[in-house]
Amino acid sequence: MGLLGRRCKRCGNKFILGNADYCEKCIVEQSLEKCSESITQNLVEDEEIRLQFRCHRIVAETGTPGLVHSRIFSNGLLAFTNYDMIFMEAESSVRGIGCHQYLRVPLDAITGISRGTLFEDLKISTSTSPQPQTFSLGKGTNAAGITDAIEKLLNEVRQERKRLAKAALVKDAMPVMIFCKFCGARNKPDRSSCERCGAPLT
Ligand SMILES: [Zn+2]
Ligand SMILES: [Zn+2]
Repeated sequence: MGLLGRRCKRCGNKFILGNADYCEKCIVEQSLEKCSESITQNLVEDEEIRLQFRCHRIVAETGTPGLVHSRIFSNGLLAFTNYDMIFMEAESSVRGIGCHQYLRVPLDAITGISRGTLFEDLKISTSTSPQPQTFSLGKGTNAAGITDAIEKLLNEVRQERKRLAKAALVKDAMPVMIFCKFCGARNKPDRSSCERCGAPLT
C-alpha cells in the first residue's frame, strides 16, 4: 500500500496521514467518544451529568485583544455534573485516539460566566485560576442558550443542596421516641406516662 490513497478504516475516505489507520476527522470523532466514556467512568457515587457539549478550548491566541489574528484550538467535551465542571480534551490527531482530563473544578469554584464579544466564546471564571477558561462554541452556536443553561444548572444545584441540608437538619431535630419499660410501646418524648399502659416513663 502506497502512502497516497490510504483509506480510513472508519469512514472509508481517502486521506494522507503517515501510518494512521483513520482520517483526521475520524480520529477526532473517536477521541471525543473516548472523552465521553471517560467522564462517565469517573463519576462518583450519586454524581450525574447534567449538561455536556462539544466545544474547543482556546489554547493560544495571537494578535491584540479585540482583534485576534489566529487562535489555536483543541477539541473536547465540556461537562457539568451536580458536583463539578469537567473539560476532557481530545488528544491531537498526530498522537492518535485518546483523551485526557484538562480541567475538573467544583461547581462552587465557578465565580462567573460570560460570553465573548468577538466570537461565540464562553468564558468561565473560577476561583482556582486567575484567567477565565475560554471555550469556543463555534459559528452558529446558540451561545446565549448555553450560557443560560449553565446558569440555570448552577442555580438548581444550589437549591438542591439547600434542600438536602435542610432535610438533614430536620432529621437531626427529630424527637427520639421513648420506649415503655413495661409494655414496650413507643411514646413521644413529651409524654410522662405510657400512652398504652399508663406506666410512668422515667
Ligand atoms: Zn475517517
Ligand atoms: Zn407501656
